Amino acid sequence: MTRDVLVVVECKDAKPRKASLELLSIGREMASRFSSTLLAVVSGSGLKDAADTVAHYAGKTIFVDNPSLAEYGWDTCGSVLENILRKYDPMVVLGTSSVTGKDLFPRIAARLSAAMVSDAVGIDLTGEGMKIKKPLYGGKVISWLAPKADSKAIVTFRPNSFTVADAGEKGEIIEEAVAVDGNPAMRILSSEKKTSGKVDLQEADFIICGGRGMKAAENFAMLDEIADLMGGRTGASRTVIDSKWREYDDQIGKSGKTVSPKLYIGCALSGALHHIMGMDTSRVIVAINKDPNAPIFQYADYGIVDDVFAVLPALKDELKKTREET
Ligand SMILES: Cc1cc2nc3c(=O)[nH]c(=O)nc-3n(C[C@H](O)[C@H](O)[C@H](O)COP(=O)(O)OP(=O)(O)OC[C@H]3O[C@@H](n4cnc5c(N)ncnc54)[C@H](O)[C@@H]3O)c2cc1C
Repeated sequence: MTRDVLVVVECKDAKPRKASLELLSIGREMASRFSSTLLAVVSGSGLKDAADTVAHYAGKTIFVDNPSLAEYGWDTCGSVLENILRKYDPMVVLGTSSVTGKDLFPRIAARLSAAMVSDAVGIDLTGEGMKIKKPLYGGKVISWLAPKADSKAIVTFRPNSFTVADAGEKGEIIEEAVAVDGNPAMRILSSEKKTSGKVDLQEADFIICGGRGMKAAENFAMLDEIADLMGGRTGASRTVIDSKWREYDDQIGKSGKTVSPKLYIGCALSGALHHIMGMDTSRVIVAINKDPNAPIFQYADYGIVDDVFAVLPALKDELKKTREET
């Protein structure tokens, strides 16, 4: 096993996701700390420009271009990654705690008998080796984990865990012709993009999230307007999704997405643990709820005990004024 650090890059619209640039930035720091090389894997179809961008962060960018990798599939993308990891044998593999990452990395870890830490939010490189920060029980406990020195580790991080550093000198791009199983167990026959144009929920710096107390689907228009003014995104609790007021893509929580924005505003949601598990690492949490005993206030940095239908129009007007002035 080498001491190299390898970042598995995820792309969206043929560009590296911001979350992957964050990993490349921390990966570069780790590789320099371990006196090793930062490797990156860009695999898919038509991702040459993405590989060029990534090469400005990584010492070596391993680039696999194959039309069979255009859509994610465990037995296609997964086996390509497994082969690359066997060949380059890095000590640490960094990936994103995304929908794809949650499917892919535990399988790879099992295949390679590697240590696996998922959903981490930070890393400490100051002592010997590395310590990985992972919240448990909806953020009530913070655990620090250290992989054994002689064990390969695969770690997935929530988006917004690190800042994106400036691009550097262009590293080497290695084109790998890895065989892709042409007869996967499952084929995607068609897919439909539903959130085109919206900021990605997991990568948003600002999220305003509505709960059951928003009362109806049409009341989310107010949240969308505030999200647009802030260049962010609207999220929702599961109750809202179950009521069909919003699409599942907006759901935050244990059975939805995990988010870590700079600012999260929870509106008329109670703060049930299943919801908290998806947003507790937000940098600043603001809660608006008319019940002063709502659990969300235990997690909030700022709380407003009031009716959302009084607070939100005032907030929207203030934001509009500020935007007009600037
Ligand atoms: C296995 C499992 C997985 C789950 N996964 C998730 C998940 O991923 N995400 C998730 O969110 N939930 C999840 N849940 C559900 C979760 O446990 C809660 O039931 C849910 O989060 C509650 O949603 P809520 O806060 O919108 O509604 P409620 O708990 O009903 O809270 C509504 C809040 O709105 C306030 N309110 C009402 N009107 C107003 C008003 N006008 N102004 C201000 N405040 C007002 C009320 O005081 C109340 O606190 C899961 C549950 C299970 C069992």
